[in-house]
Amino acid sequence: MTWEQLKELPKIDLHCHLDGSLSLECVQELLGREITMEELQAADDCDSLKTYLEKFDLPVSVLQTENGLKKAAYDVVRSAAAEHVCYMEIRFAPLLSVHEHLSCERVIASVLEPLAGKIEGLNHVEVRRTYAGADIALYCELESKEAMAFYADHPLHTAAKEKFFHLR
Ligand SMILES: [Zn+2]
Repeated sequence: MTWEQLKELPKIDLHCHLDGSLSLECVQELLGREITMEELQAADDCDSLKTYLEKFDLPVSVLQTENGLKKAAYDVVRSAAAEHVCYMEIRFAPLLSVHEHLSCERVIASVLEPLAGKIEGLNHVEVRRTYAGADIALYCELESKEAMAFYADHPLHTAAKEKFFHLR
């Protein structure tokens, strides 16, 4: 089987991390400078978990703004679609992106709200803190009951939902 044939096969990806799946181009764009693969990937002979985990520092550093989060989510979904991934479970830790200028609510909203307009029948998505202040609510406007069923099973929606697995 050739690489091209392998690429064409439909696939599922049951475990991928947003910060660990960004393309070189996406990280470069968000950093505003050229980087090497060595800056993103641990060496084949890496024998230290600390060194390995340090490779996440750079991608996590570009997930500190709403724009970075939106572009990253899109980058991972687009790369997966190009490899014919039809179902994927992406996870990330929103709390790694929270700081004094970015709330957890905005981190989650940045990843989910751009789905509106990309999925047929999904007109509007909003993530807001509830009045009680403790919980985060997801508000969606859909064209019809059929649109809701379509949205519920849509791969982009499923992928986004899985990103919040680590929140539970
Ligand atoms: Zn994992």
